[in-house]
Amino acid sequence: KKNSTTILDSTRVEIRNLTKQFGSTTAVHNASLDIENGEFMTLLGPSGCGKTTILSMILGTLQPTSGEITFNGQPINKIDMSRRDIGMVFQNYALFPHMTVAQNIAFGLDMRKVSKSEKKKRVEEAIEMVQLNDLGNRFIKDLSGGQQQRVALARAIVIRPRVLLLDEPLSNLDAKLRKEMRTQLKKLHDELGITTIYVTHDQEEALSLSTKVTVMSNGIIQQIGTPKEIFGKPKNYFVANFIGYGNFLRGKLIDEQDGQFIFEADKDSVRLVVNHDKQHQVGDEVILTIKPEMLEIITDPKIGMNTLSGKITVSDYIGSATGYEVETKEGRTFKVNVLGLNPYAMGEEVRLYLDPAKLLIIDEE
Ligand code: ATP
Repeated sequence: KKNSTTILDSTRVEIRNLTKQFGSTTAVHNASLDIENGEFMTLLGPSGCGKTTILSMILGTLQPTSGEITFNGQPINKIDMSRRDIGMVFQNYALFPHMTVAQNIAFGLDMRKVSKSEKKKRVEEAIEMVQLNDLGNRFIKDLSGGQQQRVALARAIVIRPRVLLLDEPLSNLDAKLRKEMRTQLKKLHDELGITTIYVTHDQEEALSLSTKVTVMSNGIIQQIGTPKEIFGKPKNYFVANFIGYGNFLRGKLIDEQDGQFIFEADKDSVRLVVNHDKQHQVGDEVILTIKPEMLEIITDPKIGMNTLSGKITVSDYIGSATGYEVETKEGRTFKVNVLGLNPYAMGEEVRLYLDPAKLLIIDEE
């Protein structure tokens, strides 16, 4: 069910060996990335990792040091910025405060010399799409943050862009509004099908909005995949740590039997069994990781394999779950989330069970 303003000639974006250097700082290093027609691609990573720099090179406000960006196979370096047909929403919205909602939305159409009647029709459509009905004549300065955010979005889509770029568009909103706008943004993307590139450092946003996620650190792409792949099977330490895996053991796969590896930690005598994966083999130096909610505290003394003894050193009730830290005899600290209201006491002696099927084998960066 497509809207009348559906963008039919949406665009496939290819980024090839893209590098951006600012003096001695490499903001983006040799990044290659395909964004399919109609995809919602999120660039996810900590502050300073190069996300905005990539958007700016697509938009045309920055020139790459080397590498290429194409739209449907056509290099964009040679297309003037004003003719790239990109809709952009900035973190601070960059609206004109003393102009009305309708005037702000119409701005891009004025630049493109769209006829008066067409302009009126498109502005009305855009206003409706972002649910700002009846606010067309309001001045921007008299709107709430959430309403301003919608105006910025309407202004970006009213030009029927080939590509929509969103740079942390929800970061200035409070938590509740951010969730609402997230849902609305997702609906809008489903309706319009515009190829969208979204920048955020918020993993929850990335997970809920994206069809694909690209995780970056220090200008380097660490992993590209669906939200399920990224969050369920992070490839390396950086990605796993960034998305909250929390528990890491460095060591070596020393043996293999019955479809399982034997892992030995490098620092001490900790030995664990972990399910086999195709990417690794005996002899590999690896990291084992497990999510806090996958780690179990057990009381059954009969279970011996893959358990570690320790005591509760931190207990933090976080609503529907309790977050514990358990310090083991070997001097390691594990994070464990247990559903429900604080079943264990501070200082209590417990045992941790590391399920071989829930442990993940990953590599260093
Ligand atoms: P944030 O989430 O904080 O916006 P980001 O991931 O978008 O971060 P970028 O803004 O792309 O990161 O910056 C990447 C790196 O390039 C940073 O180290 C930054 O300081 C540097 N950088 C960005 N723009 C310039 C510039 N114009 N001159 C010099 N260095 C720059």
